[in-house]
Amino acid sequence: MAKSLIAGNWKMHGTAASAAAIAGELAKRWNNQNSVEMIVFPPFVHLTSVAEAVGGSDVAVGGQNLCQFESGAYTGEVSAAMLADMGCQYVLVGHSERRALFGETNETVAEKFKAAQQAGLIPVLCVGESLQQRQQKQTLEIVAQQISAVTEPVALQDLCRAVIAYEPVWAIGTGETATPEQAQEVHGAIRAQLGDAGRETTLLYGGSVNPSNAVELFAQPDINGGLVGGASLKADDFLNIAQQLIEQE
Ligand code: PEP
Repeated sequence: MAKSLIAGNWKMHGTAASAAAIAGELAKRWNNQNSVEMIVFPPFVHLTSVAEAVGGSDVAVGGQNLCQFESGAYTGEVSAAMLADMGCQYVLVGHSERRALFGETNETVAEKFKAAQQAGLIPVLCVGESLQQRQQKQTLEIVAQQISAVTEPVALQDLCRAVIAYEPVWAIGTGETATPEQAQEVHGAIRAQLGDAGRETTLLYGGSVNPSNAVELFAQPDINGGLVGGASLKADDFLNIAQQLIEQE
């Protein structure tokens, strides 16, 4: 069985103090006796304060991005080993904002994915189509390509040990969510693409998840949790969404 997971992407928001405050609140109120895992992805510069705030709790920490190279003259970059050293267990790879605004290609994403696994981090591979691609009925093809780009350099088994987040680009930060049927169609296709080994792969849905729409999304058979942006910046909302995932268990 795939493990259930709720992840919060804080993007480029907050101060060290506000990040530690949310993290402290989650650490105090969350325990994963229900087998749902919780992860937060703060900005790099807040990783230390967040890792301290969640220390000893059931809340895990991850980086929002990483460099594909191990070390060297890459000014401004952060390696997988550095993230692991800061206490990260996870890292987002190929978030649509990285792909669209910072020119990350499927090839770069594949290199980052590999670098993350080599350093012992669990990559959360983000995939999803643009509005235009959906309108042109290319959704399943685009998502399949984004996934196969990663399966070329890594073995399928390694991909199955990762987490995959389906995030339609048109639903991120827009308040517009995929319908549960739209989301399930893509999650089902991803699961089929992964074959037998993918039965245990955690598949998340992301794109304007909030306390009102989470329950129907999480009820879908191939959705094992959510990657939540805006709503993860409020501890109450994030915990409420996590609770709805527990209720599906
Ligand atoms: C995200 O950043 O991955 C995301 C899903 O954002 P939001 O929930 O705000 O749409």
